[in-house]
Parts: sequence; structure tokens; C-alpha cells
Amino acid sequence: MTEEKKQLKRKSESGYYYSRLIPKNIICAFTTREHDYGLRNAENFHEYSNNLKARLNFFNRFGGKPENIVFFEQVHKANISVVEKKDCGSGVFDFRNALRSSDAAVCQTADIGLCILTADCLPVFFIEPKKKVIGIAHAGWRGTNLGISVRTVKVMVNNFQADPNNIEVYFGPGIRVCCYEVGRELLPFFPEQIKKRGKRFYLDLVKANITRLKKAGIKTENIFDAGICTKCNNDKFFSFRAGDTYKRMMSLIMIKNK
Ligand SMILES: [Zn+2]
Repeated sequence: MTEEKKQLKRKSESGYYYSRLIPKNIICAFTTREHDYGLRNAENFHEYSNNLKARLNFFNRFGGKPENIVFFEQVHKANISVVEKKDCGSGVFDFRNALRSSDAAVCQTADIGLCILTADCLPVFFIEPKKKVIGIAHAGWRGTNLGISVRTVKVMVNNFQADPNNIEVYFGPGIRVCCYEVGRELLPFFPEQIKKRGKRFYLDLVKANITRLKKAGIKTENIFDAGICTKCNNDKFFSFRAGDTYKRMMSLIMIKNK
């Protein structure tokens, strides 16, 4: 874990990011609870415009142009979008324009930012440094069970000739096995990754994704974990389970041209 934590640097109050990335021109960042970045649940125009402003400021900080960012509908399924120029701007200013039925995306075009919103679900970042292909996935238990991480890897391999041996995977902040209580009905889906404590069951979502990714050929040394539980660290991160029903953090991945 020490090694993994070295990868994570805090850039500012509102954004953490992964450093020591190879190649260095890839942005891989996620926000804290300093701002709410969700638009779907904004209660009024004032909140909507505040959240939108926070988004634009965050893109600006990383040199991303809002018209080149793409958001996804996020419906807890495992459909992967292959993002191209024509998709740029989807969902940035209006959540209703986000890419339909999609919870993950892959892209090889420079300067296009892929963004997902979470508050407990796990943001997963993918990078193939040699082929310069990136991906991002929104992995809750449903998506994880449907194999969203592995499906993202497969799209990187099939569409862009990425080599699984080179693919690096980064986990952002999400609810961890310490806090993620689930019903026993999930046991058949995650027999190895649900721990019983007393009469309660807890799911290790990170482990569930890692197990599946390793089976798909991702190397252990290429998997990195921010190690942040959103519920334990609710003072810094939004957590649905801790009561942040409507607020969302943002995760961004992007290849920068220079
Ligand atoms: Zn926790």
C-alpha cells in the first residue's frame, strides 16, 4: 500500500491526482467534497450553475477544454463507449446529453477528457502507455458483477490493439470493505469478496475488480489503488452511504497533446 500511496499526490484542495504516470502527458484526477460536480440532482438554477462552474474550473486546472469533455449516463450496467471527436461536449453543460446507457469509455484521441461522477461507487482508470489508449469506468456492485472493468480492457485490446501486459489500472476513492455493507443476496455474485463480520456482510469492490482484471491478463504490478474509503473519509469525500445522496465527485482521464 505504501508503494501505491506514493503514486497519489494532492494537487489542490479540490483535486487529487495520480502522479508518476507513464507517459506523463496523461491526466488522471479525481475531486474531493470541496465542490459538488453533479448536475442531475441540482435543486435549482443557482446550484446547477455553481456545480457547472466547479466543473469548468477543474477542467481548466488540467488544461481540458469543456467542449472536449464527455460524460456518461451511468446506469449501473456495463456498456462501454468508444469515444470520438463527435461525442465531445456530451453531458458537460446538460446531463441529459450525456452518452446514453454508458458506464465506461475508451478513447485514443488526444485532448478528449472522459469523466464519471461518483459518491461511493468506484472510479477505475485505465492506461495503455505504449498504444496511448485510455479508459474509465464507473464500477458499483452491479457494473462490477457484469464485468465492467474487464469489458473496458477488452475494448482497449480489440479496438486499439492495447496489450493487456501494458495496461495500468488505477482505483480512485470509493466505499471499501470496511463500510460497504451489502445484503446476503449478493453472496452468490461475490463469494470470495464478501466478508462476514458478526451478522453483517461487507463487499470488497476493489478486490472484486482486481480478481476479474487479473483473470483478464492485467499484471499485479500494474494495478494501483488510492486506498481511500469515501465513507471513512466523509470529511474529504462525498459518500452516498454517509448521507450524500445527491452530491457527486468527478473523475477525469485525458491524454494531453503536449
Ligand atoms: Zn470505510
